[in-house]
Amino acid sequence: MSQATKAVAPRVPQGKLFIAGGWRDASDGSTRATVNPADGSEITQVAQATAVDVDAAVAAARAAFTEGPWPRLDVHARARLLTRVAELAERDQGELAYLESVDMGKPIMFSSTVDAPIASQILHYFAGAVARLDGSVRGAATGTLNYTLREPLGVVAPITPFNFPLLLSLTKIAPALAAGNTVIHKPSPATPLTALKMAELFAEAGFPDGVMNVLTGPGVELGEALVVHPGIDKIAFTGSTEVGKSIIRKSADTLKKTTMELGGKSPNIIFADADLDAAVQHAFFGIFYNKGEICTAGSRLLVQREVYDQVLEALVAQAVAVVPGDPLDPATFFGPLAHRGQFEKVSSYVEIGQSEGAKLVAGGRPFHPTATPDGGLYYLPTIFADVDNAMRIAQEEIFGPVLCVIPFDTEEQALQIANGTAFGLASGVHTRDIKKAHRVAAGLKAGTVWINTYNQFDTTTPFGGYKASGFGRESGSEVLENYTQLKSVWVDLS
Ligand code: NAP
Repeated sequence: MSQATKAVAPRVPQGKLFIAGGWRDASDGSTRATVNPADGSEITQVAQATAVDVDAAVAAARAAFTEGPWPRLDVHARARLLTRVAELAERDQGELAYLESVDMGKPIMFSSTVDAPIASQILHYFAGAVARLDGSVRGAATGTLNYTLREPLGVVAPITPFNFPLLLSLTKIAPALAAGNTVIHKPSPATPLTALKMAELFAEAGFPDGVMNVLTGPGVELGEALVVHPGIDKIAFTGSTEVGKSIIRKSADTLKKTTMELGGKSPNIIFADADLDAAVQHAFFGIFYNKGEICTAGSRLLVQREVYDQVLEALVAQAVAVVPGDPLDPATFFGPLAHRGQFEKVSSYVEIGQSEGAKLVAGGRPFHPTATPDGGLYYLPTIFADVDNAMRIAQEEIFGPVLCVIPFDTEEQALQIANGTAFGLASGVHTRDIKKAHRVAAGLKAGTVWINTYNQFDTTTPFGGYKASGFGRESGSEVLENYTQLKSVWVDLS
């Protein structure tokens, strides 16, 4: 057991569902193991919610919305509760970081410095947003007054993926609650532990019963039951484009509001006039941070031909030097993939890349750290050179540590290749020419552009996709529009 494990004395949440302010077994008593991807061992059993449990959670969340105090609570009291849960998340940062690392394979180096601290930052930010949820007075016809009220939607169900379990949940839960909605959260079955831990913290903070509920279980049964349930007003989804499309189709009958944070195949462009040392660092971090299991991964690296060999050589040198290791070792930068399906997907795309004729120049195979037991899902950082943008490895989201390096000659060609994808989540451009940087930023069809940097995020900044990467924005004050509806009130003054 590493130092980090000992230091926080973590406690794994019990295998129960959190409904109406209390813990209960799934209606049929079923549970399933959640597994540590570092060694294949079972961490704990997790309850598998049924349709009966969905009905119970919806009843609790609906009652808390229509009869309970939450949407009508004085804004300062609502903000105080969000501040309280932010403080508890801060108090239990070590435990949250540990759970994220053992459940997801995320190195503790990142879960303790990024995921856990930002969790409480998100809650603090939206505690501050509660009092800013105001309407406006409009210039209406003479003899009348018109004003708008910004009101909550009702019951919101966030459905979240496995790669940033804590942060992607809270970027939905915090604004939803701040706006006065009640919540039923379905985390990924691969990484449910921090969601259960947060349920404990919401209860400890004193949130009224039914305001916050957590149901664990698989997407196809549990997720779909939420999507079609008439008692739910909104699905806030982060996940793959394919599942996002299915949710949009299936939620149509009940006319649910949806927001969709979907997949990506983001281009990261290095021009010959860039600070090449810095650009290589951003390219490396852009794809290999979080083992490539990040929606914004700069998985297509476009390099201007004059510096192509130099950039490739520097990147390969860095990639082959990475030694994957135990996520709980504070020195580990690169852990195991999050679950077996991910491991198989990455392995199969590496075979596809080779069969398509791309040049494998780093990695391309599983790895076994000597210091860890058998059964870990480790895969080496992988680089394909001389990739054609039409290849499947350049067009389809791999969602793992696989970089496609593509040469280009002109600015126009770089933009054409960069935008030559169904996705539009993020992008990067590296150049010392400020005019070119802004021209390219304007030409990129993506929700985020990073200039001379990559993978920067902040709770204050809107984030979301163009094209097949989805719609709706998370973070920033803009997100509150996705959790509220406007009422227009007319008054006769005559
Ligand atoms: P996923 O397979 O789409 O699953 C996401 C969530 O949806 C999981 O909780 C999943 O449960 C559930 N789900 C699956 N099928 C469902 C259905 N038919 N109805 C309702 N819910 C269903 O995605 P993932 O593999 O967990 O995560 C990787 C994907 O997320 C990548 O495409 C990545 O780009 C995307 N992502 C996007 C962002 C963003 O902000 N744009 C951020 C992070 C990740 P099961 O696991 O049981 O299927």
